[in-house]
Amino acid sequence: MTTLAERAYALSLLSGGLDSALAVCVLREQGIVVHGVCFESPFFSGEAARRVAASLDIPLHTLDFSSEIIGLLDKPRHGFGSRMNPCIDCHAAMIRRAGQLMEELGFHFLATGEVLDQRPMSQNRRSLDIVAKESGYGDRLIRPLSARLLQETRLEHEGRVDRTRLLALRGRVRKPQMRLAETYGLRDYPSPAGGCRLTEPNFCKRLKDLQDHGELNGKRSLELLCHGRHFRLDDRLKAIVGRNEHDNAVLEGGAELYDLILKVEGFPGPTCLLPFTAREDQVAEAAAICARYSDCPKDRDIEVRIRSARDVRKISVRPADRDRTDRMLI
Ligand code: SF4
Repeated sequence: MTTLAERAYALSLLSGGLDSALAVCVLREQGIVVHGVCFESPFFSGEAARRVAASLDIPLHTLDFSSEIIGLLDKPRHGFGSRMNPCIDCHAAMIRRAGQLMEELGFHFLATGEVLDQRPMSQNRRSLDIVAKESGYGDRLIRPLSARLLQETRLEHEGRVDRTRLLALRGRVRKPQMRLAETYGLRDYPSPAGGCRLTEPNFCKRLKDLQDHGELNGKRSLELLCHGRHFRLDDRLKAIVGRNEHDNAVLEGGAELYDLILKVEGFPGPTCLLPFTAREDQVAEAAAICARYSDCPKDRDIEVRIRSARDVRKISVRPADRDRTDRMLI
């Protein structure tokens, strides 16, 4: 019988999707103690992983991955996926961070829900090998869903993990995972590809614009990228206009001390955030854009309130027409 001291402890990367949840179940079935670890950044949250960890009833460790992923956006060693997603480098960096935590916790190995050949670029054999090697933790990394198709790790060789009870899944077919989910009683899991904004075309367009203008310099600019419509007024200046109440609240909350907050007077409409460095003609431009998305009449001048930490004032503008806003929309 296995004693407590002999039990294996695994730290398993949880994305919030089905595969990483199944990896936990497969390991637990052979008596391995599993904790989860998830990552957060302006591009993805740990929300889905928190839900999965709660439903599996395992402790979850959350790591801030912002600086790593922002750093990887500038010429990642293994390139990008279909958008601005540097998946191979990102996986390696996540395994590295998780490996450090594993050592701090005194755990034996890392696990992931990766499936061989499930994604053409980031989960083929070569990519899995690169991730294992470059993370620095290849000898302590097990992919329980495809392990029997991959090289045996030291832990399996030593018998701490029973290789015969790991799986041999491969490819894009989801049926085996669905069946396993039923076996383990897993429900309400999100789609496997969801969750990372670096794979979303519109978001990446705005991100690329930020990068091209040398503004990829902090969490705030990236967080704002997730909200509202973005209009480039010149090489150094953007106006952001909320799309809904939530965006409006974020833009108000995200304003720095002297930034300008624009609102149309007397009509429901969005909040517009403009840096305090805007020239007066740019303030008028932003006010016209803000008015275009409000409920005000579009055929006459209307008043826009401009608030900053210094003062509140009003200017009168004619709402911008669609052609004009489309030209500036990123
Ligand atoms: S999809 Fe996003 S979070 Fe996932 S590996 Fe790729 S870059 Fe990283």
